Amino acid sequence: MEVTGVAQRQAWLDKVMPPVERVRPGLWSIPVPIPDNPLRYVLVYALEGPRGVTLVDAGWDAPESWDALVAGLKTAGFEIGDVRGVLVTHMHHDHYGLAARVRQESGAWVALHPEDTKLLAARQRDPAGLIRAIRRQMAEHGVPDDVGGTLAEATRTMLGMVEHTEPEIALVDGTAPPVEGWDLRTVWTPGHSPGHVCFHDARNNVLLSGDHVLPRITPTIGLFPRSGDDPLGTFFTSLEKVRALPVGEVLPAHEYRFAGLDERVGVLLAHHEERLGEILAVIAGGTEPPTAWELAQELTWSRPWARIQPFMRRTAMLETLAHLVVLEKAGRAARTGTGEPVRWAVVTP
Ligand SMILES: [Zn+2]
Ligand SMILES: [Zn+2]
Repeated sequence: MEVTGVAQRQAWLDKVMPPVERVRPGLWSIPVPIPDNPLRYVLVYALEGPRGVTLVDAGWDAPESWDALVAGLKTAGFEIGDVRGVLVTHMHHDHYGLAARVRQESGAWVALHPEDTKLLAARQRDPAGLIRAIRRQMAEHGVPDDVGGTLAEATRTMLGMVEHTEPEIALVDGTAPPVEGWDLRTVWTPGHSPGHVCFHDARNNVLLSGDHVLPRITPTIGLFPRSGDDPLGTFFTSLEKVRALPVGEVLPAHEYRFAGLDERVGVLLAHHEERLGEILAVIAGGTEPPTAWELAQELTWSRPWARIQPFMRRTAMLETLAHLVVLEKAGRAARTGTGEPVRWAVVTP
């Protein structure tokens, strides 16, 4: 893998915002800050057309993020009123958050994959139902009741932030989104979210990869109540799907641009394979079959479990569960015992 966003990487190391850059003729990279978040910023891409500009992702919904987006567009020679459309890679707040305001100020259309539109709609229609589903899932996998309650509350706070904008365009796998002057293809890459998409620009030999493939970190893949029954297995398939494309440079939504998609996909797959092995080893080394919650506490994370925030502990458990489901489907692990909570055992061939 070769870092091609050299200035972006240097900015990352210096802990400052990277510059607005023209990465191809008519294709701009605009960093939009995510306040108080270790990811620091989303890279919004702006595609120049004959009658304005189309964005790929919009950024986090906060005043300083909005200001950075407006200023970035200005550097590229555009006003917010010139935005014709927003292609959103997935429904996470750092990508979708500002879409509503962009539409409000410019009349732009918003495009999203139907699977993520469904998720947004379900949250809006029935937030209480989602909280119930989360509590149900927590109990099922051995999260103590008081912890489960705290985690559900954290979700409630997060739900309050979601800006509900019904996208008017549905992104369809393998088809061209309506971007004048560009020959883009939507590549549906479920995993990180059920409706995650990348955009392939064959003419420029680039892949706008969203959160699907990033140069340094692995995207979170968790078994959320509405994530489908095997998000990690689906993610593996989505990695192979983009690996097969002719791509010279990857334009990700975080961190920095890079070349060597094939190699990066290989590293991601190897990372998860190692994780699957670690999970089997922890189960095998225990005295009795663990719950996913117990198991998560025994795994290696970027920091000790005691220092992981409650909300992130839930994410850690859902990631663990996503791996357990892959092991279960492969016949390498199985649910054991009766009733709740679910416990896991290694299957010895
Ligand atoms: Zn995301
Ligand atoms: Zn993101």
